[in-house]
Amino acid sequence: MRPLSDVPLTVVGGRGPHGLALHLLLQDRGVSGYRLLDKAADWLPLYGPGGPMQAVGHLRSPAELDFALGVPERGMGAFEDDDGSFPLRGVYRLEDAAASAFNLSTTPAHRAPRLAFWRYANCVARRSGADAHVLQASAARLEPVWEGAEGHWRVHLEDGRSFATAAVVLATGLGPHLRVPRPWRPWWARLPEATRAHVLGFRYEGLAGKRVVVAGSSNLSSWEAAIRAAEAGAKVTLLSRALNPIEWQLPFAPHWFQADFMARFMALSPEKRLRTLRKTHVPNTSLPGLAARARALGVRVTFYARVQAAAPLWGGVQLQYRTPEGDHAEYADLLLAATGAAPRLRELPLIAETAREHRAPVVVGGPAKHRPILDDTGRWKNLPPLYPMGAHALTRGGLGVNTLASATAYLPLTLPHIARAAGLALPKSA
Ligand SMILES: Cc1cc2nc3c(=O)[nH]c(=O)nc-3n(C[C@H](O)[C@H](O)[C@H](O)COP(=O)(O)OP(=O)(O)OC[C@H]3O[C@@H](n4cnc5c(N)ncnc54)[C@H](O)[C@@H]3O)c2cc1C
Repeated sequence: MRPLSDVPLTVVGGRGPHGLALHLLLQDRGVSGYRLLDKAADWLPLYGPGGPMQAVGHLRSPAELDFALGVPERGMGAFEDDDGSFPLRGVYRLEDAAASAFNLSTTPAHRAPRLAFWRYANCVARRSGADAHVLQASAARLEPVWEGAEGHWRVHLEDGRSFATAAVVLATGLGPHLRVPRPWRPWWARLPEATRAHVLGFRYEGLAGKRVVVAGSSNLSSWEAAIRAAEAGAKVTLLSRALNPIEWQLPFAPHWFQADFMARFMALSPEKRLRTLRKTHVPNTSLPGLAARARALGVRVTFYARVQAAAPLWGGVQLQYRTPEGDHAEYADLLLAATGAAPRLRELPLIAETAREHRAPVVVGGPAKHRPILDDTGRWKNLPPLYPMGAHALTRGGLGVNTLASATAYLPLTLPHIARAAGLALPKSA
């Protein structure tokens, strides 16, 4: 195997939206010297045909969250599919969603079909020559190399190779952080793998005639998973810890998607940012019509149901759950956990040891709990230059960073700092 050259800047998770956005932004400015490190074979694997978003038919986000990044011809509306159609042309814009009637009247035609968005991103990547910057490999460990108070990184790969880089953009997404509730863990571990899965790691194959229990809450993924399993021919029960979902198009106030709001938010002191986040109410929302669709497909829904335990039985699972009416039992061939993700960067295997040894700080309370504490340039404190993205950048970039806004609004704002830390010169206008 050929040894790897050192590079100024590395995106770990480089084939996700952040890697693609960083490539487009730097290439537009004539800058090179970055490596997009990713284990995936294609772009935006999260959204792809084999990815973990199998139950998501349409994106929730507006047309502004695309890879135009200042070049309108690169926008999702201009994307022409293989059959000559323009599947992303009708996607709603933020100004449409400002009218409350829109949330009631919206249909899937106003939203981006997930697979069309994936083809669009792959097309943008191919046309822009992004593959030339990709190293397809899995990152195993980030080792800090200190030179006095400053330092750089040595990136160790699963295949044994390594290289040095001045700065790291960490964009490994939610995939490594799928959550199973703590009280479930003793019995969950004892269930045979064929009888239990997390909705974000499940492919919805071979379900015809099977009995499936989706255990979740009024969150979007519970309802989407129940619908997807029913469409695949399963007999589905949804055990929901809460009531029907709040059916609303936008997951939270639309200003979190806007670069100028995000810039103002990022200019606040770290204390004020945290205070703002603590006050922001984030409702559990799902798309209008979702609950009605589930019922039309025959999904049986039980509210205020809490799964207590499950045990293997006759090749399936015997479940016990509790409702206000009392204790109940249910048999299923498969238990699907729609229990979300817990993005704790200090638990990500490739950085865990380093973060612990160097006391890289995290927020200890409130809705931003376990998120890294970043300095005013978006860099994780106490470490050589490392810029967490997406859900891990919450305290600096706000709630929008849980979405594509992280790659398309937060990253462009942070890029000048990242480039400086990597020793890359951006042209003056950037
Ligand atoms: C079910 C679901 C629905 C969503 N719907 C929307 C929506 O409608 N609108 C919206 O704006 N956002 C949506 N999001 C959020 C949005 O997709 C994410 O915010 C965005 O994809 C995050 O980008 P990312 O680059 O951080 O991570 P990802 O897109 O997850 O990419 C992570 C990359 O890291 C790579 N990787 C991971 N570990 C390693 C490693 N050790 N070595 C090398 N590579 C590695 C993976 O292969 C992958 O390419 C949704 C998310 C989910 C889970």
